[in-house]
Amino acid sequence: MAVMRSSGIRKFAIVSLLITPILIYHHFIGALLATASGTGENLLLTMEAAKLHRISGVDKVVALTFDDGPDPRYTPRVLNILARENIKATFFLIGKQVDKYPYIVRQIIEQGNLVGNHTYSHPDLAVEDKNQIKDEIDKCQAAIFHVTGQQPIYFRPPRGLFNQQTKEIVSKNGLKMVLWDVCVEHKRSRTSSQETKRVLSLVRPGSIILAHDGRLNRKKTIEALPMIIKGLKERGYKFITLDNLPPATQGTYVGKRPRVI
Ligand SMILES: [Zn+2]
Repeated sequence: MAVMRSSGIRKFAIVSLLITPILIYHHFIGALLATASGTGENLLLTMEAAKLHRISGVDKVVALTFDDGPDPRYTPRVLNILARENIKATFFLIGKQVDKYPYIVRQIIEQGNLVGNHTYSHPDLAVEDKNQIKDEIDKCQAAIFHVTGQQPIYFRPPRGLFNQQTKEIVSKNGLKMVLWDVCVEHKRSRTSSQETKRVLSLVRPGSIILAHDGRLNRKKTIEALPMIIKGLKERGYKFITLDNLPPATQGTYVGKRPRVI
């Protein structure tokens, strides 16, 4: 009887040992969930998103990306800076803006930059239904094609938010979802030099840097951009557009959760 009891206790101890880490893991995930968004689905998407935001296994290259243009207040200034520095970037365009300012889109292309799809009207795709998501992506794709004759192959969801349906529609349309690991704009960066310092401290080989050239006031970003580029060049970084990733690294993205802005 004593032997049986001790064997029972041992079994219980072993099972507890096995189960505890699982419980802790679930608790941890649950806590993350609560802070992230409050729903299980969104946590899952956050984890999915984590796979898409940094190019792995590459040398000192970075991809500069700009969201929310074209915007006559900022995009031409960004283009001037890129031309002066002799570098190229990827612009995720809002379809509505493309319809309004086609001449800026043509200038983006003429300078050898790449354009991507950032939806037609910048909605929160995590809460949109299937038809709305499809419509947003299709209309932006059509607007860009109308102006450039090119079908973008990269897609970035507004604020990095998306759901399972978004993923399915994106991949059915032959698009590739791209997020980021470093964002130039940050609430704690009050000046352009603070923005610069923060970006330079976070960039790693293969980083996808997100900056904005539209929608809100982007004056600080425009001021920071030459300093960020200078700092990265001094550190030996080369600038590539997303379609110029080394073939071996295409589709291999790693890293932590992007910060949602
Ligand atoms: Zn955006």
